[in-house]
Amino acid sequence: MANLAINGGSPIRNAKENPWAAWPVWDEKEEKALLEVLHSGVWSYNGPKETEFNKLFAEFTGTKYAVSSVNGTVTLQLALEALGIGVGDEVILPGITWQATAATVIDVNATPILVDVCEDTWCIDPEEVRKAITPRTKAIIPVHLYGSFADMDAIMKIAEEHNLAVIEDCAHKHGGEWNGKKAGSIGDIGSFSFQLSKHLTAGEGGIMTTNSRELAEKLDALRNCGRRPEGDEYSEDVDKGAGQYSDEGNFIQSGNYRITEFQAAILIEGLKRLPAQNAVRDENGIYINSLLKDIPGVKPMRRDERETKEAYFNFAFRYNKDEFKGLPVQKFREALEAELGISVDGSYEPLNNASLYVPLTKPARHKLNDEYWKNIDPKRFSLPVCEKIYNEESICMHHKVLMGTKDDMDMIIEAIKKIYDNAEELKD
Ligand SMILES: *Cc1c(COP(=O)(O)O)cnc(C)c1O
Repeated sequence: MANLAINGGSPIRNAKENPWAAWPVWDEKEEKALLEVLHSGVWSYNGPKETEFNKLFAEFTGTKYAVSSVNGTVTLQLALEALGIGVGDEVILPGITWQATAATVIDVNATPILVDVCEDTWCIDPEEVRKAITPRTKAIIPVHLYGSFADMDAIMKIAEEHNLAVIEDCAHKHGGEWNGKKAGSIGDIGSFSFQLSKHLTAGEGGIMTTNSRELAEKLDALRNCGRRPEGDEYSEDVDKGAGQYSDEGNFIQSGNYRITEFQAAILIEGLKRLPAQNAVRDENGIYINSLLKDIPGVKPMRRDERETKEAYFNFAFRYNKDEFKGLPVQKFREALEAELGISVDGSYEPLNNASLYVPLTKPARHKLNDEYWKNIDPKRFSLPVCEKIYNEESICMHHKVLMGTKDDMDMIIEAIKKIYDNAEELKD
């Protein structure tokens, strides 16, 4: 008789009868806020909800400015544009991240340079960044992946030494803190996503944070067809003539990347919930990791001591098949999914071989010249650590698993132990 649920045994959790915490979270406060926007007739364009949310998010991240936009892809693109990055420039970023981190670099005609990550945090390896610097390097995009924080001390030091811009991709880190500084407040610009899976969401949406008035003005113009920011949003520290974002005059070329009032309304409510939700995820994360570390063959992610506040997007840990009688990670994920009734994935695909990062499928847009075409070929980058993480080690679950109770955490641990004890059953 099989024990494991994947082989027909009874699962650790029947998720139909005993569902996991739900995501997204909302109640009548969101309903009321949405109806308020509906009835007001002001559905977009620098409306009161957008203005309020920008202000609240800037306060939340401890930055002077926050400018919202349509999603966390466009925010990366506009950040690159605001920093003047384009033709002839190279941008260094980690080999494991969502494809947008690299694709947006190509969308501004610059060259993404993919480097390897640290094996215990899955975030960009500062030593690899150093090795990748050339006279063409203009920026670094560290990504605070899943529960981890990129080593911002090392990244900022390298950036200062080489006069590079830093865009923090904070799509996984709303509310996380490094040495008391919020994610998105350390580099030149922070880029956040509010896509449905993220831990602050309006279905879609994004925001850019910065302490630079000049960059804030540029970002504001770039998300609004190039128009000069209206009103006196930036007048706090007005010094006449400063903040001019184009040498030629008042307008720059751009498109419409504006958020709607409906999104802003939901985000205002979501932001109120976020600190408490982050605290629950952190408490559960600390608890489950304290148990995980004693099971052979699985390891928690390394939490850097300088990470003073945790913000999980997904719950990730490391797997070693040698301790599981050679059971491949893919099988382990499937077995865990069957025990728990919740999807269990691996990390993002390494970008040197990712199904959705395929710039060479778009010659009409990206074949600027033969040299550029060669340089944007993702296959030219070697990313052994990323490949090992993806192919052998990574286990990722949606952050909603951390939003429940300690009993939920115990079940995950129980399921891992059950697979450990019964790994024999899954041998081919
Ligand atoms: C989600 C995500 C993005 C893109 O955000 P969207 O809002 O989905 O466009 C960028 N970078 C990372 C690391 C992400 O996870």
